[in-house]
Amino acid sequence: MEEIILKIFIFVFGATIGSFLNVCIYRMPRKESIVKPPSHCPGCQHRINWYDNIPFLSFVFLRGRCRHCGQRISWRYFIVELISASIFLSLYLYFGISLRFWIFAAVSSSLIVASFIDIAIREIPDEISLWGIVIGLIVSVIFPQLHSSASRLTSLGLSFLGLLAGGGSIYITGIIGDAIFKKESMGGGDVKLMAMLGTFIGWKLVLLTFFLAPFFGAIFGIILKIKKGESFIPYGPFLSLAALISVFWGEKIIKWLFLI
Ligand SMILES: [Zn+2]
Repeated sequence: MEEIILKIFIFVFGATIGSFLNVCIYRMPRKESIVKPPSHCPGCQHRINWYDNIPFLSFVFLRGRCRHCGQRISWRYFIVELISASIFLSLYLYFGISLRFWIFAAVSSSLIVASFIDIAIREIPDEISLWGIVIGLIVSVIFPQLHSSASRLTSLGLSFLGLLAGGGSIYITGIIGDAIFKKESMGGGDVKLMAMLGTFIGWKLVLLTFFLAPFFGAIFGIILKIKKGESFIPYGPFLSLAALISVFWGEKIIKWLFLI
């Protein structure tokens, strides 16, 4: 019974964080502060009351419209809350309430924001990736167990190796892609995002991320190409999806691939 209550609590906690991530996704590309002013409707500027800001419920209750002016609220709000809640619950089921839970909850949150901003404006904000790199290196020194190491210096080294592997793999792909297609194929934002991921998950899992992402990207790219004739797709969401899969099943996948 207590276990179920804890799971529900983690799910709701994730949704609440998702609600804040929505604010970041909306405001960061507009260079607005993410802490103030309080949430308001982009249509009528009316302040959103707490009871209209409850994850999932408010969206359903208001039928996806602003209470005051009736403007449609984007489905993105609902989806981001649901993704965030599901990831938090999955992290709990895999790692329990542990160091890895908190660190990967924070990393996943920044991946959600980076992905949805990438979808909206085809750009990943430096505020996320560059600060993420700094925080990843610092966290690795403070908590060497993140890289399954007992020494802080070794952990920092592994984190830095992850940075090089993550950033380097995409950077080199970009250079090769540019030479073949004669146009920019990989954004600098992807390089920085992968460098950031590397500092947290290390070189093995970030390289696995690098190899997994194109599969999702290709499937989605083909669908988008057929439906809309669009050929340029944001890559951040696929890197993020691949990174999450690596966090959850990476060790198993690597063992299976190399039969060790
Ligand atoms: Zn409104």
